[in-house]
Amino acid sequence: MKDYLSLSVMGKEELAEFISLTGDDTELYNIADKIRRENYDDKVYIRGLIEVSSYCKNNCLYCGIRVGNKNAMRYRLTQDEILSCCKVGYDLGFRTFVMQGGEDNHFTDEFMCGVIYKIKSLYPDCAITLSLGERSYESYRELKNAGADRYLLRHETANDNHYSRLHPEGMNLTDRKKCLFNLKELGYQVGSGFMVGSPYQTWETLAQDLLFLKELKPQMIGIGPFISHKDTPFKNEKSGSLYLTLKLISILRIMFPKSLIPATTALSSISPVGREMGLKAGANVVMPNLSPEDVRAKYNLYDNKAYSGSEAAESLAILKSLVENAGYRVVVDRGDALC
Ligand code: SAM
Repeated sequence: MKDYLSLSVMGKEELAEFISLTGDDTELYNIADKIRRENYDDKVYIRGLIEVSSYCKNNCLYCGIRVGNKNAMRYRLTQDEILSCCKVGYDLGFRTFVMQGGEDNHFTDEFMCGVIYKIKSLYPDCAITLSLGERSYESYRELKNAGADRYLLRHETANDNHYSRLHPEGMNLTDRKKCLFNLKELGYQVGSGFMVGSPYQTWETLAQDLLFLKELKPQMIGIGPFISHKDTPFKNEKSGSLYLTLKLISILRIMFPKSLIPATTALSSISPVGREMGLKAGANVVMPNLSPEDVRAKYNLYDNKAYSGSEAAESLAILKSLVENAGYRVVVDRGDALC
């Protein structure tokens, strides 16, 4: 057996080499699964994803809701619509609501604090996760004081040069990292991560991603394949690989035994069995879609996004049996991280 446990102490070159090795990864998946079971048993935590806005002021080159995409269908949810999603979700058994959206100036601190406060008063046993991009320290503090528990902000890539090739001028890795450390300082449970197979990514940048995560020590780590979108500058770029994503999920589980790792929508979008394979490779979270049905197609980050069937929160029964068939169990729980 290879010494997989030494992954946690490897430097950049060794990690890059390990990631680049091709071959059968079954043994790696099995070690990751063993570690996941030692920490989280067979539990799979569910998060109700509410995609609050498809408006975004940013112009990230990979993203379908970038401001420059004139074909994007724009919408934003009202407070009442968000609360109805939570009601449906709560009744189904969700105890975490994730409000994610583009960077939309309409979602002021005042608006968001009102929504957070309302959700917390109606459902005090639920956790609130936000994923609204980069905001000021003061803004993150207001949202935390209103009751937000967690924040997801992928670093996207921990290499400055790579970051600047994925984002327009004006966006930089230093600001992104600053936001992440601010969130940690404010006491949020923080999630970060990156796309697998984004244009210009190399084995070295992936190794840098892992080393940055070691420095940040996030409670949650979300990775998924890059998938091209027809109305972005990366429309002709190849999408990320299922197997490399699975390999990285296993590496993450071994390096971060107590973290929460989702089997992401992007993973199920590139393969019908992507999510189950993600769970078997070490993931322990799934995030079904709780957004109103008529907006799901409009939150179109990449082509062929999965948002119906077992991806949809209201089809939880299908999801539960898929998870059980994979050897795990969906639980009704806030699902806080052990770290
Ligand atoms: N605005 C927030 C932010 O920047 O964190 C949240 C929304 S953003 C659309 C959520 C995530 O979608 C990004 O962190 C990115 O990794 C992912 N994403 C965007 N475009 C993608 C694509 N083409 N393929 C795969 N993932 C993508």
